[in-house]
Amino acid sequence: MSQARERWPPLPLHILPDEQGPPHHWRAPSRERKSFMTVVADSRLEMYLSGARVPAHSQAAIDVIDPATEEVIGHIADGDATDVDRAVRAASDALPAWRELTPAQRAGFLRAIADEFERRIDEMSELVSRQNGTPIALAGAMQAMVPENYRYFASLADALETRERRATVGGDAIITREPVGVVGAIVPWNGPQPLTAWKVGPALAAGCTVVLKPAPETSLDALLLTEVFDAVGLPPGVIGVVTGGRQTGAALVEHPTVRKIAFTGSAAAGKAIAATCGAGLKHVTLELGGKSAGILLDDVDLDSFRPFVLSACTPNTGQTCRALTRVLAPRARYEEVVQFLADALRAIPLGSPSDPANLYGPLVNAAQRERVEAYIRIGVEEGAEVVTGGGRPAGFNCGYYVEPTLFRNVTNDMRIAREEIFGPVIAVMPYDTIDEAVAIANDSEYGLGGGVFSPDVERATAVAERIESGTVGVNTATFPMDAPFGGIKNSGLGTELGPHALDPYLTYKTIFRP
Ligand code: NAD
Repeated sequence: MSQARERWPPLPLHILPDEQGPPHHWRAPSRERKSFMTVVADSRLEMYLSGARVPAHSQAAIDVIDPATEEVIGHIADGDATDVDRAVRAASDALPAWRELTPAQRAGFLRAIADEFERRIDEMSELVSRQNGTPIALAGAMQAMVPENYRYFASLADALETRERRATVGGDAIITREPVGVVGAIVPWNGPQPLTAWKVGPALAAGCTVVLKPAPETSLDALLLTEVFDAVGLPPGVIGVVTGGRQTGAALVEHPTVRKIAFTGSAAAGKAIAATCGAGLKHVTLELGGKSAGILLDDVDLDSFRPFVLSACTPNTGQTCRALTRVLAPRARYEEVVQFLADALRAIPLGSPSDPANLYGPLVNAAQRERVEAYIRIGVEEGAEVVTGGGRPAGFNCGYYVEPTLFRNVTNDMRIAREEIFGPVIAVMPYDTIDEAVAIANDSEYGLGGGVFSPDVERATAVAERIESGTVGVNTATFPMDAPFGGIKNSGLGTELGPHALDPYLTYKTIFRP
């Protein structure tokens, strides 16, 4: 087991206290500052390009706000087109030398990045948690995945065959696999470091150079990551970081030198990005939102399902693309499931993300809380019934907290069943037959995740095979990094992870010899 995993193990399955009654374990955050504030205070209006932090061209700044205390904890530059152009040029200048390295040499850099990241994992976890409100136990578990991700992509580089001579019809051919060029990587705030690794790792392994545009909410950790790149001696320009908002991202997508965009974020932004990539004939992969269904079969053991209320239905305070936010229960057990879920939600400790005991924190920002609260109102107006939650937790006078909320009497045509809320809100719907459960699960614009829960694994697998989605878990909602991950329909285009993760970063070239 890696050092990071020992320190930050995945959340244990039976982490939830088995208790009933009012959530007295929900504790409001204090305004205590943490040791990593030295890093935060150091946030300057800088970009990272050609291997150095340099003053941004843009003088516009974005505040970084701690969602648990609503304090401004730093500033980042809101990069403009000049900032983007400088970073792209630096990445383009670095491309010829980087692509000439052997895949094994590039794998060496990825392993060094993994080792250095591992050394800084506590600092990184705290910084991510401080910016996006992810409870520290979960932030640590998520950062612990990152070195494993970089090492996995290193192993793919080791196995990469870039030149093959093949007999063909009428002669023979030399077929080479070449990096697509400069990649623009754009990531959201909910899992910034793993999602960065899923793009930077395969891009570097394939021989591409990268300009990373993190989300404005979580850019300080991206700048901290540049210290990892410096520490391992990554050649200047191989990675650049441009901070900023939507316009900064749009400038990166539009830049003519960028040949591929690897994007994770909302479906709306993904469609706009795909349109620009279409106009510029750029490669693009899109990992977008979800509205995934968790189907409880009639023999489900609810006690076994208990840990999944957190890890599958509301991970990261519900701000996870693959969350099973539509729970489908057999009609004969509907009331039992509703009561069980309500009790389980209330039992999950909520409070300051810096307290390792807490498993729910605040939402990432005020806008996200407004969005979630608006959906709760919409659900009530549509005729659904709030079983638990529905408001802000009592006693929390600061921070963007909402109560974990459960809706019953939901039908699949309601907006709360169709649209991605991205908060701790679960809709429970009854079904009469497996066919109906599958039909409800598939009646969605999205197709990212899914889960089927039953002690009978083969029976659950047969149902999982009928779900139209990129990833479906049997008695889980997670997925392994050595299998493809991606969405269909409005959930995305293309895949990341798995043995073919380098493919989107490579093109083929054929030299034919009759
Ligand atoms: P978002 O789409 O608003 O922003 C994501 C990133 O894209 C940010 O860096 C943002 O600045 C940038 N951006 C936004 N509009 C852009 C545009 N037109 N051109 C270029 N860049 C643009 O999403 P968010 O609110 O930050 O993140 C939440 C969303 O991400 C949810 O929909 C969630 O489901 C999705 N997500 C998907 C996955 C997945 O793997 N499928 C993983 C995590 C999050």
